[in-house]
Amino acid sequence: MNRMRIGIFCFRNDLRLHDNRALLTALDACDRLHLVYVFEDRLWRESAPHRISTHRARFILESLQCLIEQINNLGGVLNIIYGNIEISIPHLMDKHGAEACFLSKESAWEETKTEEALSKVVPTTLTSNATLVHPDDLPFVLSDLPETFTQFRKKVEKKWIVRPCMAPPKSLNSCDSTHANLPTLSDLGFFNNTLDARSYFTFKGGSLSGQNRIKNWLWDKQCLSTYKLTRNEMTGADFSSRLSAWLSTGCLSPREIYEEIKKYEIQHGANESTYWLIFELLWRDFFHFLARVHGPKIFQSRGIHPEREKRSEPDDAEERFHKWKNGRTNNPFVNANMNELRVTGWMSNRGRQNVASYLINNLELDWRKGAQWFEEQLIDYDPCSNYGNWLYLSGYGNDPRPGRYFNVKKQAATYDPQGKYTNMWS
Ligand SMILES: Cc1cc2nc3c(=O)[nH]c(=O)nc-3n(C[C@H](O)[C@H](O)[C@H](O)COP(=O)(O)OP(=O)(O)OC[C@H]3O[C@@H](n4cnc5c(N)ncnc54)[C@H](O)[C@@H]3O)c2cc1C
Repeated sequence: MNRMRIGIFCFRNDLRLHDNRALLTALDACDRLHLVYVFEDRLWRESAPHRISTHRARFILESLQCLIEQINNLGGVLNIIYGNIEISIPHLMDKHGAEACFLSKESAWEETKTEEALSKVVPTTLTSNATLVHPDDLPFVLSDLPETFTQFRKKVEKKWIVRPCMAPPKSLNSCDSTHANLPTLSDLGFFNNTLDARSYFTFKGGSLSGQNRIKNWLWDKQCLSTYKLTRNEMTGADFSSRLSAWLSTGCLSPREIYEEIKKYEIQHGANESTYWLIFELLWRDFFHFLARVHGPKIFQSRGIHPEREKRSEPDDAEERFHKWKNGRTNNPFVNANMNELRVTGWMSNRGRQNVASYLINNLELDWRKGAQWFEEQLIDYDPCSNYGNWLYLSGYGNDPRPGRYFNVKKQAATYDPQGKYTNMWS
């Protein structure tokens, strides 16, 4: 590529300087780079507060604050703008005489449409940055993505390639612009909520807090060595890594977590638990690739199986849904999980599976109602993992079985035998 005089780099769900291939590509290609973050209307304005809760909004603002400080330390500034990427970026390019723009490639449909719209009007370079295994390193072309996770995993593990992490840029003093201040929660129309005393864990946005969580959970407490045994627990801060929020905003890269696991295995030994975290990161990859292959289908009621029968909802669907989301169903275990989600923005994987199964099988509601509620509430919302998991449980996804049923009473007896979790969040 010929070197350009001026370019634009737009941060999206890659709110970090380290291991950010898209940013390094842009820095390599341009003499001067304007760094930008767009508060997109589709998320923050038009449908707010229905697509993003205060928990996630706060996490993103904290992540941006951390990013701004890191950029400033390297001599650059972050330009904050409001609008739509496909309109704001070309406008900014005009203003600064930029020749091209650079972004991380996203996997989900809406984000992909934005990329297409932008590429139609200005020269755009997209770099895949979000997955553990780079799509170009898969042992098959994406359109041949295996139907089930197990087939996918086996093929990928046979030809295992994880690209090494890349160091952050040494300097950003070629990056300038007129920057705006970061908005506050209330500027964006959110109420400032206080932390609930029952929360086991405080998520703080930003790559430094994410790296601190790796240090604390993996190295200091060595929780990785027992992860496979604890990951289905429900109380406490450390039964699972809690890295999801930093991964979904891109404050952490899956490759850096992988490298930490590998270093940990050398020091403390490899076992089923250390492998299992990689296994879970592969689930995340699988859902990203599924989203790329199936585009809008993962958001549609019959998902990737339009040939399967459509289920109808009962007449009192709205009332059932209202009770479910507010933790007022007939099942205390489901209610506890839904309360934890509303109050903290997070829920364990075990909880997510149970409340999703309850909505689909017991309440007989359209799975998309639940997925949309999760989208709004989750601090770690990721379109691919969220809709992918819901689809999987609904029977319209990549599961060879037509739907997964969880007996929530049995599950409560197994995973919350003393009712400690249920009582805490009742
Ligand atoms: C209905 C439903 C909706 C979900 N929605 C989301 C979502 O919006 N965002 C999200 O990140 N995860 C989602 N998950 C997956 C999973 O529940 C969370 O990733 C996990 O609970 C986050 O906690 P953790 O970081 O402590 O996970 P850990 O158990 O420590 O796992 C480590 C990482 O592996 C990945 N991972 C683990 N399980 C899964 C999985 N089943 N699918 C995809 N990736 C996985 C995540 O990135 C996670 O951070 C959903 C699961 C279900 C059943």
